[in-house]
Amino acid sequence: MTRVFSGVKPTGHLTLGNYLGAMRRWVAVDQHRADALFCIVDLHALTVEHDPARVRRLSRQAASLLLAAGLDPALCTVFVQSQVDEHARLSYLLECVATDGEMRRMIQYKEKAVRERGRGGSVRLSLLTYPVLMAADILAYGTDEVPVGDDQVQHVELARDLAVRFNQRYGYTFVVPRATRPAVAARVMNLQDPTSKMGKSDDVGPGIVYLLDEPDVVRKKIMRAVTDSGREVVYDREARPGVANLLEILAACTGGEPAELSGAYTSYGALKEDTAEAVVEVLRPVQQRHKELCADPGHVEEVLRDGARRARATARPTVDAAYRAIGL
Ligand code: ADP
Repeated sequence: MTRVFSGVKPTGHLTLGNYLGAMRRWVAVDQHRADALFCIVDLHALTVEHDPARVRRLSRQAASLLLAAGLDPALCTVFVQSQVDEHARLSYLLECVATDGEMRRMIQYKEKAVRERGRGGSVRLSLLTYPVLMAADILAYGTDEVPVGDDQVQHVELARDLAVRFNQRYGYTFVVPRATRPAVAARVMNLQDPTSKMGKSDDVGPGIVYLLDEPDVVRKKIMRAVTDSGREVVYDREARPGVANLLEILAACTGGEPAELSGAYTSYGALKEDTAEAVVEVLRPVQQRHKELCADPGHVEEVLRDGARRARATARPTVDAAYRAIGL
């Protein structure tokens, strides 16, 4: 059976980008057709400035939201990365096959390093090696497919390269994974700056729709989305990024095609109104279920405990084999 692995970082509240770009497909498709593991990658949250209590809180919140969105522990494994030692164990071995040049070329590293320096901080070594830990997350499970948004495709490519290199040097150990992307909304953009992605780790801003935003907050954010001085609603990512983003969000929520949908609108206002309502409707059941889960935190903890146990049992043989192959 195809093995699927993917994750979310508890560096902030989950966003509409996480949902449309990744989670929705995990729920609707991946958990049904594959042996799927979904991980709250809390070790990755330590690569930038963070507050320990907040990381813990956000991890639990992310877990509840994954379940609220529809991941079913009877169908897939949901767990927290730091509860499974195999990730860190394997990461070190992969650091011994990766090169520093490879790490410095990663687009996300370059962007985040600039941001950290801009905030007056220094860049943690773990930010540079982050893609190696991500490769370990993926390779430890013999993963075939990694469903991700566009922003993570380069990291999955690195995991492929490291798997191939390790196998060539030390004998076949790892399945070589590949990234899979959603058809629409692979890159949901910030509503106030449609040339940069809607990322949860960015500062809380009016350009980011969070999964737990109240309906009126969602409406306000979408109605205030930056567009352009044009009047016609056309789908053009380069020339009209703001409008294109709204059309993609609407298409992702309603199941249409952005270019086709554009024909139905004669004003930006009407497009914004429909997009806002579509998002509110998509979020409504997730928020309702999240509220129910918050009333039963023991259930979420139990799911995570069981998930970690299953994940450990799956990863250990591969990681042990890698230790033997490399000469330990
Ligand atoms: P973030 O950038 O929000 O910290 P994560 O690294 O936790 O994102 O990513 C979780 C999943 O959500 C990944 O598969 C990622 O590709 C996807 N994702 C994150 N932001 C977006 C976005 N704006 N558009 C589409 N997919 C996204």
